[in-house]
This record gives sequence, structure tokens and C-alpha cells, in this order.
Amino acid sequence: VSVIGCALLHHPVKDREGKTVTSAVTNLDVHDIARSARTFGLARYYVVSPVEVQHVLVQRIIEHWTTGAGRRRIPARHEALTLVGSALSLQAAVADFTERCGQVPKLIATAARPPEGRELTTFGAFRQRLEGGEREAYLILFGTGHGLADWVLQAADVLLEPITGQGYNHLSVRAAAAIVFDRLLGQR
Ligand code: SAM
Repeated sequence: VSVIGCALLHHPVKDREGKTVTSAVTNLDVHDIARSARTFGLARYYVVSPVEVQHVLVQRIIEHWTTGAGRRRIPARHEALTLVGSALSLQAAVADFTERCGQVPKLIATAARPPEGRELTTFGAFRQRLEGGEREAYLILFGTGHGLADWVLQAADVLLEPITGQGYNHLSVRAAAAIVFDRLLGQR
């Protein structure tokens, strides 16, 4: 059976002009995506940022909810936050996940507007691959800002098709993560 993690990248992500920038970690992204990851049985959720002081923030959030006052108040949140790890780079997250699950994860990128020229994998096809039974490790990548840098989208092993609604296409990363997890792992 596959082991699946996810990573929220704050670098390298695009700004409005498509330049590569670093975005700030938000408390909401840590909590919300941790709860979705827990709900759908992911093994790990990496908050990736090259900014050291942002790790202090992530570690403080984790500690508050896994050992501090938060744990006593809302124990269920403890379960979700124990999935969270912070990493200085995607490479560091991959290294940590490799160590934890004993094999190098394949990178699964997501994008609202995928770049031209890259073949997209449908949710259905990837779900079948997950249910295929061979033991694989996967890391699903989400962006912030205006999305993952193009080189990440090009370098990933799989680029998932975008979630398409009815035209408007500006989902928050929190909403997109929950939808992606449900399409790939939710009970049907
Ligand atoms: N500032 C925004 C926020 O607060 O969420 C971040 C936007 S960022 C582009 C949203 C990220 O969510 C993308 O990098 C991608 O990982 C995912 N995402 C958003 N819309 C999506 C869609 N329609 N299909 C697939 N993934 C999507």
C-alpha cells in the first residue's frame, strides 16, 4: 500500500508577474491542511520555507497543540498537528520523508493553471495507481502565492490535472488540498 505525504511550499512560488518569490507561512494553512491530511490518512505534512524564523513559528504552533494548553483544550487537534513537520527546502522534506518511509517519494505537483507542454495526470488515473497495491511513497506538493514555480511543476514525477469548477478558478490552497485529498483518497 502507498504511503502519502504532502508539502506546502512557501518557496519557490510565483508572484503575480511569475517571478520566483518566498511567501509567508500562515497559521491557518498549518492547521487547516493538517486536519485535512489527518482526515484522509496522510502520513506527514511538511511546511516548507527557507526562512529560519518561520520554522520557529511552525514549531510553536505544533508545540502549542501537541504538548501545550491547546492539547488539553482540543485533543483532536493534537492528532492532526502531530503530522506536521517544518523543512527548510523541498529537498529537506524529501530527505526526511525518505528516511521515515524507507524509500524516495515520487513528487506529485498540483496547479490551478498547469504550464503548457506537460502531460497531466487525471485524478482518476492517479487514484487507480494509489489503489494499485504496489508499495510506493508519494509527496503531494501545494503552492502558495501564485502557485508553485514552473520548474517544480516540470520536475515533478506527476502533475495532476487542475480542479475545475465553473470558470472561476482561484481556490485557496486549503480548499484545494481538501479536494485533492478527497478525490484521491476519500471513500467512494
Ligand atoms: N494565496 C492563496 C491562498 O491563500 O491559498 C494561494 C494560492 S496558490 C495558487 C493555491 C495552491 O493551491 C496552488 O499552488 C495549488 O497547489 C493549489 N490549487 C489552487 N487552485 C487549484 C486548482 N484549481 N487545481 C489544483 N490545485 C489548485
